[in-house]
Amino acid sequence: MQLYDKHHIKIYNSLTGQKEIFMPINEGYVGMYVCGPTVYSNVHLGNVRTFMSFDMIFRYFKHLGYKVRYVRNITDAGHLENDADEGEDRIAKKARLEEIEPMEVVQRYTVDFHNILNAFNFLPPSIEPTATGHIIEQIEIIKTILDKGLAYEVNGSVYFDVLKYNETNDYGKLSGRNIEDLIHNTRSLDGQSDKKNPQDFALWKKAEPQHIMRWPSPWSDGFPGWHLECTAMSTKYLGEHFDIHGGGMDLKFPHHECEIAQAEAWNGQTPVNFWMHANMLIMNGKKMAKSTGNYILPNEIFSGDNPHITKAFLPSVARFFMLQANYRSILDFTNDGLLASEKGFFKLMNAIDSLKGLKTDTISSFNVKDWQQSCYDAMNDDFNTPVLIANLFEAVKQINQIKEGKATIKTDDLEMLASSMTVFTFDILGLVNPSESQNDSGKLEGAVELLIKMRDDARANKDFALSDKIRDELLEAGIQLKDGKDGTTYSTK
Ligand SMILES: [Zn+2]
Repeated sequence: MQLYDKHHIKIYNSLTGQKEIFMPINEGYVGMYVCGPTVYSNVHLGNVRTFMSFDMIFRYFKHLGYKVRYVRNITDAGHLENDADEGEDRIAKKARLEEIEPMEVVQRYTVDFHNILNAFNFLPPSIEPTATGHIIEQIEIIKTILDKGLAYEVNGSVYFDVLKYNETNDYGKLSGRNIEDLIHNTRSLDGQSDKKNPQDFALWKKAEPQHIMRWPSPWSDGFPGWHLECTAMSTKYLGEHFDIHGGGMDLKFPHHECEIAQAEAWNGQTPVNFWMHANMLIMNGKKMAKSTGNYILPNEIFSGDNPHITKAFLPSVARFFMLQANYRSILDFTNDGLLASEKGFFKLMNAIDSLKGLKTDTISSFNVKDWQQSCYDAMNDDFNTPVLIANLFEAVKQINQIKEGKATIKTDDLEMLASSMTVFTFDILGLVNPSESQNDSGKLEGAVELLIKMRDDARANKDFALSDKIRDELLEAGIQLKDGKDGTTYSTK
């Protein structure tokens, strides 16, 4: 028997606004598509949070024994500067500004994206397709939608006819918008556009003569509209009707709404059973934006080299911090929040490290089976990681009491506790134990903490020659100590 026979997951479905029991289309299999990054700049921390939520979900399905096909795409063409099909292609613009090939932009930021996700201990998706690798599939879909009369061609570009589609379908059902409001709230076309109505969206855009990223099509040399690539790639690898489609909250409209419309216009099927959306990440209570300086790059968290944080943090500490919030809640990224998570993270790791040496007894003063069930209950309730983590800390409390002789545990219960702690902490939350880490950042953290402690001792003994020597030599090695009211912290250069 697979674990999924015992554990039924409820998922909040953005399409219905309710938590529903997850029933896969094919028993034992899960097909999940998540909109990936547009690779024209370093990956945004908010996007990291979105992908981390789906990494955790991917991990949990796998743990339950499902065979999961997880498809996360790379957008390397077609994403224009704004959602109204206006402005330049984001990748082409970056290539023009930096005077490099568009595919160099794509390569540079795809590598950055993978490096950051690896640092955060993400599992790779099953398939990571690119928009430029699926131009033929996109052209075929456009041909069918044109044949069905739900798109029109103007001057070499093809647009989806939203009003015509809405006569027989419901445009706006995912985002809760209705077409009258959309018509009322959209500014009228300025005469420059080829669209019949401002709600219409591009399936194919004719390329301007200077545009490098272009492909031949029956309508013009051009490029596909951004929304279309996800319809082409999700259905190619997961079938015309699949289980889960995820992405950031900001993609619900228009991107995902347009995906539903395209798929229904193309093959008459609603493409997805469960739509899932991860909420935003803000920083210090405000929207993160490079232009206001309220901004941090993921690798600045690891180096400490950013004015909004007082020290470097391990990737697993940042991961733990993010998973302490529910994926559907807005998360405020703050230095204080990270410091608190760091404390909690090491407390959890210490408790796990001490499991091996725990003494067993003839009775358990703690019901391990009930505790394990409550961990599953938390995850089965729409992947509620904050509740799961609260359960892990309940176990930490018990472990510490057993260590102090204030509680007892039987051998078989200890085995169950140890294996469940490992499964939930490392396999499902995806944290890495610094004491067992293959990479050096955990070891470095331990070594620097030791030197900080030695320096504190030297200062307490008024041995300022030694304390200064520790500070100066660490600085020479690229590690800067900062003395603050809560003690000494460090950053790496
Ligand atoms: Zn997408």
